[in-house]
Amino acid sequence: MHILVCVKQVPDTTEVRIDPETNNLDRSSAPAIINPYDSHAVEEAVRIKECFGGKVTVISMGPLAAVEVIKRCIMLGADEGYLLSDRAFAGSDTLATSYILAKGIDVISGKEPIDLIFCGKQAIDGDTAQVGPGIARRLGLPQLTYVQEIEDVDNDKREVTVHRKLDDGYEVVKAKLPCLITVEKEINELRYESLPNLIQAARYQPIILGAADLKADLSQMGLKGSPTSVNKIFAPAQRGQGEILKGSEKDIVDLLVQKLSQKVV
Ligand SMILES: Cc1cc2nc3c(=O)[nH]c(=O)nc-3n(C[C@H](O)[C@H](O)[C@H](O)COP(=O)(O)OP(=O)(O)OC[C@H]3O[C@@H](n4cnc5c(N)ncnc54)[C@H](O)[C@@H]3O)c2cc1C
Repeated sequence: MHILVCVKQVPDTTEVRIDPETNNLDRSSAPAIINPYDSHAVEEAVRIKECFGGKVTVISMGPLAAVEVIKRCIMLGADEGYLLSDRAFAGSDTLATSYILAKGIDVISGKEPIDLIFCGKQAIDGDTAQVGPGIARRLGLPQLTYVQEIEDVDNDKREVTVHRKLDDGYEVVKAKLPCLITVEKEINELRYESLPNLIQAARYQPIILGAADLKADLSQMGLKGSPTSVNKIFAPAQRGQGEILKGSEKDIVDLLVQKLSQKVV
């Protein structure tokens, strides 16, 4: 079974700051990491490979520095990695990103057909959750989003059964292979990297493809192919601390009534 995982390099949003003057993300303030949802996608792909045999390939679109996220995936058990990197890709929104990734996936599946594609539920910086569904639409594949458990992969019947997370529970859905799945973090627990994987990752160099290798339409990538524009990014105003009322129950109620009536007036 050939499983492909889309992985994005993101700034660690627990560390990132917003410049109060410009309201822009200060990307230099945060280390670059693999999008956390994508680590779980790689882990799930590796677990399926362990059951059925086959291969896990990862793909990322980003600057050359994103080689590091591919090496991270090799540590997690992936076999091969492709980095799509070209100045023509800069400024791509989700529409253009899904176009470039779909073109890259076409190149990979031309060499070796793909049975399953995994994406994270969302990227922790862009947060749109649009890229996975965009890739599925472009490749004409069924898509299973917000998946929290893979119940079964039936390679003979060529189908997969998953649990999709809902607000008040989950639903069980089947789809034919090949299909695209976006994963929640609950889907698995990450395991420790093995020593052989760490050694392989240290030496590993991904295959790097540019716009010409994808034989893609330049007008559909980068700023030219991106109809979305970001008008403003801002940190929400900090809310003041709440006030704790102390005393007997009667004192607290009296005080509360007094405070609320002051507000009404
Ligand atoms: C006008 C505009 C210009 C932009 N310019 C830039 C820019 O120059 N540089 C930049 O870094 N961002 C840029 N962005 C942000 C960029 O569009 C998004 O980060 C990107 O399209 C992915 O969207 P997302 O982060 O919401 O991912 P989501 O849709 O939330 O991601 C879901 C999943 O899709 C997959 N995925 C998403 N992105 C990638 C990727 N790049 N490679 C592999 N898999 C991926 C992952 O599996 C991820 O978990 C720009 C956005 C806009 C609107």
